[in-house]
Amino acid sequence: MAQAEFELIRQYFQRRELAFPAAGLVSGIGDDCALLEPGTGQQLTVSMDMLQEGVHFPLRCDPRLLGHRALLVNLSDLAAAGAEPVCFTLALSLPGPQSDHDWLEAFSTGLAEVARANDCPLAGGDMTRGPLGLCIQVHGLVERGGMLRRDGARPGDAVYVTGSLGDAAAALPLITRHRGEVPEREHNDTLLSAYYQPESRIAAGIALRGLASSAIDLSDGLAPDLGHILRASGVGAKVTLPALPLSESLKATVPQGRQLELAVGGGDDYELCFTAAPSDCPRVERLLGELGVPLSRVGEIVSGDGLLWLDGQGRPVTLQVSGYRHFA
Ligand code: ADP
Ligand code: MG
Repeated sequence: MAQAEFELIRQYFQRRELAFPAAGLVSGIGDDCALLEPGTGQQLTVSMDMLQEGVHFPLRCDPRLLGHRALLVNLSDLAAAGAEPVCFTLALSLPGPQSDHDWLEAFSTGLAEVARANDCPLAGGDMTRGPLGLCIQVHGLVERGGMLRRDGARPGDAVYVTGSLGDAAAALPLITRHRGEVPEREHNDTLLSAYYQPESRIAAGIALRGLASSAIDLSDGLAPDLGHILRASGVGAKVTLPALPLSESLKATVPQGRQLELAVGGGDDYELCFTAAPSDCPRVERLLGELGVPLSRVGEIVSGDGLLWLDGQGRPVTLQVSGYRHFA
């Protein structure tokens, strides 16, 4: 690697706010490998997400917000596993010979803010020239056998979601139309921060250890993602549409006919969807309530397969779900 790139790594990625010591991380940036040490009886969880400019984030995206989003969408997978973060690694492809200092400074600041808030330092990575894109791998710890999985939902279990649904998808037209420069308008900030700064659900995932019978994070939308739980578990589900959590901002900015479509098929929410046995529901609701995590009980697991939408009277409803759209 060229001297100039070592200098960039030292300046922007090895900085103390981002590459700080953490439990389970013996040593990080500066050697050929980072060294991790799970405690006795612990298992390591690993997950990776790539983000390409123009596909997973808009062109000329604010680099600090990109830093937030890139790490938060990765942490969301650890949350869905009930894992405690240890550290992350970063592969970065940067265009041009310029190595824009303002861009790197803002990007690494964004990463550092989320890293600190989640006790998840940067422990290594790689850099190359190319179209703007990045790949983050997060590493987390669970007690042996305790990882939350997709395949444990059983008939009779309640279906829950955290937060509200559809806000990030409602932000997409704002982002594409204005290419990141959005005029201050009522509710727009809420929708945009749902997209760029999804809430970390790490604490919720840890609280759900031993309680959730299955869990997944909502990256593509409730319909496809709950579908993954159903297929993995060999069950079906009934979901009551009026029980779905819609934010005031979504209701104020999206025509009523499209609100549910965004909530079930919009994607990018990075909330948790999980199931719990009826006997565990009071404990689930108490623990997440204590954490201040908004929680909605939206349905029930049934035997069989497939996802059935119900109206407020319990009657089946047909819902057109167009699914996740990347940037045009
Ligand atoms: P190698 O060639 O042995 O793979 P590199 O020269 O690519 O090592 O990187 C040197 C050190 O800097 C390594 O510890 C590596 O993990 C770290 N590093 C490289 N790029 C990044 C990055 N984008 N973010 C954090 N650490 C990085
Ligand atoms: Mg290398």
